[in-house]
Amino acid sequence: MVGAGVGGLAAAIATAEAGFDVEVLERAELLSPIGAGLSVWPNGVRALRRLRVADWIDAGGTPFGDAGIHRGREGTLIASTSPEQLRARYGEPIALVHRAELLGALIERLGAERVRLGSPVRSASADGTVRLESGEELRAEIVVGADGIDSAVRDSLLGDGPAEPSGIVAYRAVLGWGSALPAGEYWGVGEVFGLVPLSDGRLYWYAAFREDEHDAREGPPPDPGQLLARLRERFGSWAQPIPAVLQATSPSALLRHPLRDRPPGKRWGAGRVTLLGDAAHPMLPFLGQGACCALEDAVALGESLIAAGEPERGLREYERLRIPRARMLVKRSRSAARAALLARPFLAGLRDDLLGSTPAALRLRQLDRVIGSPLP
Ligand SMILES: Cc1cc2nc3c(=O)[nH]c(=O)nc-3n(C[C@H](O)[C@H](O)[C@H](O)COP(=O)(O)OP(=O)(O)OC[C@H]3O[C@@H](n4cnc5c(N)ncnc54)[C@H](O)[C@@H]3O)c2cc1C
Repeated sequence: MVGAGVGGLAAAIATAEAGFDVEVLERAELLSPIGAGLSVWPNGVRALRRLRVADWIDAGGTPFGDAGIHRGREGTLIASTSPEQLRARYGEPIALVHRAELLGALIERLGAERVRLGSPVRSASADGTVRLESGEELRAEIVVGADGIDSAVRDSLLGDGPAEPSGIVAYRAVLGWGSALPAGEYWGVGEVFGLVPLSDGRLYWYAAFREDEHDAREGPPPDPGQLLARLRERFGSWAQPIPAVLQATSPSALLRHPLRDRPPGKRWGAGRVTLLGDAAHPMLPFLGQGACCALEDAVALGESLIAAGEPERGLREYERLRIPRARMLVKRSRSAARAALLARPFLAGLRDDLLGSTPAALRLRQLDRVIGSPLP
C-alpha cells in the first residue's frame, strides 16, 4: 500500500481482512494532526461500518449534520434535509469529523506497526516492484497506489500528467467555538461558505470561489494574515455568524487549496498494481465525496480480492466495479461546483428559487445515486 491517507489506511484494513500481509509506505515522517473537517456522508459511514471502524462515530460526541443550504447574505434557509431524514432513507446520517480523528481511528484498527513512515515511493511497475526515493526496492504480490492527487504510482504506471487546475480555491480552518452551531452551507454569487460543527466545541469552516489564474496556481503560500484579511473583507457583509467566525480565526489555522481534478480515466492499473482514492479519481469537493469514495473503494477492493481468489483478477474486478461510479462522482462534483459558484446574480437567484421550491422527497431522490448504496 502506498500512502497512509484515508484511502490507503482503509484499503490496508480491507486487504488485511482479505488475508494479505499488508505494509503501508508513507512519505511523511510523522502522522501529524493537521488537516480540517470532513463530512462523511451515509455512503462513507456505511463503508466505515463494513471496515469495523464506525464505533467511535456511534460512541457519542460526533455531530451529525444536515444538508442545509442558506442564502449567503440574508442567512435565510433555501432548503434543508435533516439528519433524521438522511438516516431514514440511507440507514446512516452524515458524520462530521476531523480528518485527524478519522485517520487515528483507521490506524488503531489497522495497527500502527503496519505503517512505515518516512518512506516516499518514487515508482511502481506492473510486476509488483516498488522503488523508494532512498533507492530501496521492494516486491509485493499487489501494489495499491493510494498516494493522493499527485500520485507517484499513477505517474509511473499511466504517465498521464498532473491533475487539472479548476481555477477554484478553497480556504478552510478549524477553531474553538464553544456554543453549538448547526451545520450549513451558505451560497452567494460565485462564492460559497460552509460551517461544520465538530466534536468538543470545535468549528470547521470552508469557503470557495474562483481566483484569477495567478492566485489559483500552486506555489509558495501567500501570507496567511493577508489572506484572512481578504476573506474577512469578502464575507464581511454575509449573515452572522460568518463574519464573527472569520474574526475569531487565527491566521495560523488557515489552509488554502487550489482545487484540481482530472477527467475520469478508463484505466487504473496494470498487472499487480492498481490505484485508489484521489490517486485514481481526484474530484472537486462540492459534493463532499472524495474521502467517502475512497472508503467505498477500499471495501470494494477487499471484497473483490476475496471473491476472485487470485490477486490480479481481484484488482481488475475492483477496477471494473469502481471506475463507472468514480467517473459519475467526478462529473457530478464538477456540476455541483458550477451550480454552487454561479457568477451571475440572476442565475444564482434562479438556482436558489428552484432549489427552494423542489420538494424534499425529490431533492433526496436526486442524492440517491451519490449516497445511496453502491456496495452490495
Ligand atoms: C477543500 C477540500 C474539502 C474536502 N471535503 C471533503 C468532505 O467533506 N468529504 C469527503 O469525503 N472528502 C472531502 N475532500 C476530499 C478528500 O480530502 C480526499 O478525497 C481524500 O483525502 C483522499 O484520500 P486519499 O487517501 O486518496 O489521499 P490523501 O488524503 O491525499 O492521502 C495520500 C497519502 O499518501 C501520501 N503520499 C503521497 N505521495 C507519496 C509517495 N510518493 N510515497 C508515499 N506516500 C505518499 C501522503 O503523504 C498522504 O498521506 C475534500 C477535499 C478538499 C481539498
